[in-house]
Amino acid sequence: MAPYAQRALRIGTENTFRLGPMIAQAEARGLRVIRCNIGEPDFPLPDHIRDEIKRQLDAGNTHYCEPQGVLSLRDAVARHMRAQGIDAAPERVVIFPGAKVPIGFAQQTYANPGDEIIYPSPGFPIYESFTGYIDAVPVPLYLREERGFAFTAEDLARLITPRTRLMFLNFPSNPTGGVPSTGDLAEIAEVLRTRLPPGARVFSDEIYEDIVFEVAHRSIAALPGMAERTIVVSGVSKSYAWTGGRVGWALLPTVEEAQLFRNLNINYFSCVAAYTQEAARVALDSPLRAATLQRMVDSFRARRDVVVDGLNRIEGVRCALPPGAFYVWPNVRGVCERLGVLAAHAALPEDERSRTTPVTLLQMFLLMRHGVATLDRKSFGRIGADREQFLRLSVATSLADLREAVQRIARASQDGAGFESFLRETAGARPW
Ligand code: PMP
Repeated sequence: MAPYAQRALRIGTENTFRLGPMIAQAEARGLRVIRCNIGEPDFPLPDHIRDEIKRQLDAGNTHYCEPQGVLSLRDAVARHMRAQGIDAAPERVVIFPGAKVPIGFAQQTYANPGDEIIYPSPGFPIYESFTGYIDAVPVPLYLREERGFAFTAEDLARLITPRTRLMFLNFPSNPTGGVPSTGDLAEIAEVLRTRLPPGARVFSDEIYEDIVFEVAHRSIAALPGMAERTIVVSGVSKSYAWTGGRVGWALLPTVEEAQLFRNLNINYFSCVAAYTQEAARVALDSPLRAATLQRMVDSFRARRDVVVDGLNRIEGVRCALPPGAFYVWPNVRGVCERLGVLAAHAALPEDERSRTTPVTLLQMFLLMRHGVATLDRKSFGRIGADREQFLRLSVATSLADLREAVQRIARASQDGAGFESFLRETAGARPW
């Protein structure tokens, strides 16, 4: 008998971290791989933040600290949220090693086995992944290309039942970059306010809050009646190009809920390193914040424009211009059709066919034969992924590499013979 509890086999994963060995394999074959799979800004940590880390280390701030998070950072987070019109107080803020952690904590805190959890699909994979771990019922809210990857209040209302306990929102969105209009956000809030069962919570993942182009970010928690049912989450990973800092935070609706999360912190990791928390406070409070962010956002905008334009010139690719985040999400069904990917997938042996999807074959062909690392649709929610042929490309790579990546994808899209030989070569050895 396997030594594992059932739940250990029911948790999913985040594919971007799984792709490393396959990139290494492609590189071992002599390819220079352009990494368009990575979800982190390619800028160095801003000097003023790095200097504060050093200062804190020199001051010996290397011991255990308050499990909820140091007060100075919780204060800064609460101020940052109040400036956006959110009713926030430091007693309701909890600090975690990254914005990812409260996703699982929220599911463990609010949902019993059999309870329903709604989340966007395509969406950050950890929302769906954790539902298996806690034996909740996953309820994907599909984002449709024809609606600009938005969803209507009606779409949402249809999914809410008396067993709904948690609803994940993520604006700007990973992977689509979507940001709702002010009107749509108000309508979504109205449905949540009036239709969610008593006690159900909204989890607003705002990790890309600062990376917006033509639009402004607005937190749903700033709308009337939302603060009392919304958990607002963000962190330092994206805004300050600081994914390795592992600092994220959540604002909880009540002090009691913040205390439950604090106790999970105690059980799992005790506390987040105090010297990084103090540097995160500097990141939020520094007068250099706005200018540093602006430089990064301007650079992402220029790269996004080049990539979207280049992709749309490839026959069989259709790519919307995302208003936020640093990803593009092209529909590559036309390329799949031209290269025979759909037919090749349909002809796979049953067990392999159900494990993989057509666009996964294209994703691996792009990586192994053309040296471009991307992520497939199923990396952003497994349920219902088979019927859609999308890839995510991160634009957090140099402009020169992005131009080269687009050229390589254009070449790959004409390389039918290469795709056939790739399939032959990998037959019986496709773990993806
Ligand atoms: N939420 C979303 C939507 C993300 O894309 C990510 C990171 N890719 C996270 C949360 C987690 O971020 P962190 O590094 O702060 O854990």
